Formats: sequence, structure tokens, C-alpha cells
Amino acid sequence: MSRINAGRLMADLRALARFGACGTGVDRVSFSAPDIEARQWLVERMQSAGLQARIDRVGNVAGVTPGASRAVVIGSHTDTVPRGGWLDGAMGVIYGLEIARSRIEQGRAATLGVDVASFQDEEGTYLSCLGSRAFCADLPESELAAARTPGGETVPQAIERAGYGGAVWLRDPARHVAYLEAHIEQGPRLEAAALRLGAVTGIVGIRRFRVICKGQADHAGTTPINLRRDAARSLIGLAHWVHEAIAGLGGPDTVWNVGVMSVLPGAANVVPAEASMVVEFRDTELAVLDRVEAAFRAQIAAADGRGGVVVSAQPIARSTPTLMDPRLVAMIDGVAGALSVPSMRMVSGAGHDAMIVGRVMPAAMLFIPSIGGRSHDIVENTDEADIVLGCEALAGVVERLETVAL
Ligand SMILES: [Zn+2]
Repeated sequence: MSRINAGRLMADLRALARFGACGTGVDRVSFSAPDIEARQWLVERMQSAGLQARIDRVGNVAGVTPGASRAVVIGSHTDTVPRGGWLDGAMGVIYGLEIARSRIEQGRAATLGVDVASFQDEEGTYLSCLGSRAFCADLPESELAAARTPGGETVPQAIERAGYGGAVWLRDPARHVAYLEAHIEQGPRLEAAALRLGAVTGIVGIRRFRVICKGQADHAGTTPINLRRDAARSLIGLAHWVHEAIAGLGGPDTVWNVGVMSVLPGAANVVPAEASMVVEFRDTELAVLDRVEAAFRAQIAAADGRGGVVVSAQPIARSTPTLMDPRLVAMIDGVAGALSVPSMRMVSGAGHDAMIVGRVMPAAMLFIPSIGGRSHDIVENTDEADIVLGCEALAGVVERLETVAL
């Protein structure tokens, strides 16, 4: 017997996808007109479901189950990247709505409520995970005031334009027992393994560095090779090291990227005077990140001065891994087993609101497959049967939490 109403779940997901519809996807960046309209629609859907709903000062949509003294928070985000997909974030929020609504109908809400969250600006149009950080009281006013779009609009200006007010919705340690977030995988692993559910064990930490090599511009025809101070040669050697050496230093889940490179002055007949790149690596284990970083820094030190090139690496971003609560991960395994659905444990290589909330309360994430592993594009999609199954499984986790004290 189903714990949720599959038809209603899909209807709400499709209704939400009409706000900012863009081909087969959605363009609904944080604080855009369709985003503001979608939040208002969500409040109305929550109220129809019997939840006490409001939009708080930063634009988080909160739908609280009345008459419950304990509640699970289920949520994600309804903002998207430009020309994004219809499920990234939205699905996790509508799962929360459907599970909260079903539990009220089934008379289960008093035993354990579901408080539904659509957190503002997970995608970082202004500030990544703005809403979940505010919910966790982890966002200083100064940082909120300073965040702005590339176009220059600040968060306070956007809040005023949207007309949001009232207190920020805060985590309530006496009420909120756990945070659950369902999300599309955004990668190909579940599909490749022909599995339908993923229990996320952790969300990666990221270390990102800008490497700058400074040499000297000279004529590329007349200057002998051994007399050149070629900045690009140094940089390319280091980029090669990143791609060849990290595989042997990291763990099975370690990933790395050289996503930005530039060479100046950038002419075919000039020896490069300056070259730079941005290097990042990600893993869920601090020890692995530390080991890779130490080796990387040693390479930078060894390269500095070689061939007359000055080499430096500046950290430009650093986030710590967030481990999901092992008891909740085991519950997801158990529910998948009870549903006879093939599943696996996996890490999340992308950031999510659960990365923030999981630092202050027990949290878990459930992944369902992404067709072709595609996301952050309008082609993003998932089989309807998988979408329905994921919601059923998450509702099963909530049922297990009725009788467990975390
Ligand atoms: Zn997302």
C-alpha cells in the first residue's frame, strides 16, 4: 500500500515547473519574478495541505505541521541555475509537501510532523545556500548584506523588491529531530549500475586554489629554449601533475579539476610571461583532502624558481565535508530493502542544503537516477516511476523515525 499519492505528487511537480518554464526545463533563478511567484504558489499549496505556511525574511518557504511536538524537516530548494532542470531542488521540496500532506490525511502527523522547507538561493545567484545557512543561524548579517549578483543587486535590495519580511525561520532543536533531502543524482552512477535509489553517506568538501606562474615575455623565435622564463611551461607541468598524481594520492571517491587556465600576453610568437589556473579537488574525508593538499603544496614549492619562474598557489575556496547521519543512512538502506528496490551507498560530489543543515542536526540524502546523468541544463529528467519511488521511500524513512529517538 502506498504511503503517498503519486498522481498528486506529479501534478504538483509539473505545476511548479510552469513557473519559469524554459523548453523542457526551468529558468527560475533566486529572486527572479518566476521564483517569487513560485514561492507564493508553494505557500498556497502548503496551506491547502493543512500546513502553517509562510515566507520568511530571506525568502525561505516554511510549511509547518500543526499539532506536532516533534517534526522531521524535509526540504531542498526551488531556485534553479539559468536554463536549469525541472527537478534539481524542486523535487525534494515537493516530496516534503506530499509526505506532510499524506501524513496529515493518514492521522500520523501528531506522532511525528513534517516541516517542509524551500531554502532560498541554494544555487548561489547571490550567496550559495543562503536560506539553509539562515535557517541554521549560520549567516552573519554582514555577509548577507554584502552578497550580490554579478549585476550588482544586493540581497537586502532583492528582499525589498520581493516584499519579504518577518523573522527568519530558524531550526528548533526541541522540535526538529532530523533533516531529509531527496535529490536527483546529477551524475550517471545509479543509471550505470541499474540501481534506483542512492543512500548518500557524505557530501564532499572542496579545496580550490589559484596557481599563478610569473616568468618573462620574450620573442618566441629568437630566445633559446634554455634561456626562457616560460610561465606556461611551469603551469602545464603542474596541471599534468594534478591529473596524473592525485589518482594515486586520493581515495576511491576523490575527484579533481583544472577548470580555468589563462596565458598572458597570449600570442603565438611571445614566450608566456604569466600563466594561471584554478585547481580544485573534492572528497568526503578530511584526511584525504589534507594528504592531497600537502602533496600539491610540495609540488608548488618545488616548481617555484625552476626555470626562472615564480610560482604561487592561493587558496580561494574551502569547504569541509559533511557526513550524513549513519543511522539515517541505514534507514534508507532498510527502506530500499523493504521495497525490494536495488540501491547503493554513494557520496555527493555536489553541494546541497543538507551539507549546511547536516552540520547542526542529523541529516540524510536520498538520490534517484538522472537520465544520462544530466543536470544544470533543461534536458535534465528522471523516469516518473523513479520519482514516485523516491517519494515512497522517503515517506518510509519518516515512518521509521516515528519510533526511533536519534
Ligand atoms: Zn539542487
